[in-house]
Amino acid sequence: MEQKLSKLFFKCVNELNKIGIDILNEKKYGKIEISISKRNNKRYGCCKQEEPDKNYKVISKSGNRKVIKYERFNKHHIEISQWVLELEDSIIKNTIMHELIHCMPYCNNHGVEFKKYANLINISYGYNISRVGDKRKDFEKSNIKYIEKEKYNYKIVCQGCKQEFYRQRIQKNFVRKYRCAKCRGKFEIIELK
Ligand SMILES: [Zn+2]
Ligand SMILES: [Zn+2]
Repeated sequence: MEQKLSKLFFKCVNELNKIGIDILNEKKYGKIEISISKRNNKRYGCCKQEEPDKNYKVISKSGNRKVIKYERFNKHHIEISQWVLELEDSIIKNTIMHELIHCMPYCNNHGVEFKKYANLINISYGYNISRVGDKRKDFEKSNIKYIEKEKYNYKIVCQGCKQEFYRQRIQKNFVRKYRCAKCRGKFEIIELK
């Protein structure tokens, strides 16, 4: 999996290069690291910013409070959620590209600058970078059954035929009381949270 991620990461880097964005130029964009997030994450990916660049300090006011923001960082750590790597390459690349944009100055949000680069990349290479992804669509495109796992607390697996389903609540004696309708096998309950 790590290999797949780094292969696709460098494909994205090359594509950015071809449209004049030398994203691995540390002087310009800072250092970028990428890894797989093993936590059970709802998000496709995230970009953790470190070492704010003092030359890019922006002070604004929110009511009476002073708000300090930085528009450039010297270090970025991109994490791609494990489940994303099960999807189609184009969707994985879409996620990597989205996070790479966050590494550029003035792009640590989904504002004007972010949109500018997203549009440029979308038009140049047919990406579909947006603020948030559409999980249902992305799973369908990858021919993987989409289950909104976050909603559920329990996964029930038949030990016979391995079919699985999800429940928010479960009866105390479920395992003793019920058998699989397909194969009469015993159920195993896995707590998700
Ligand atoms: Zn984002
Ligand atoms: Zn079964």
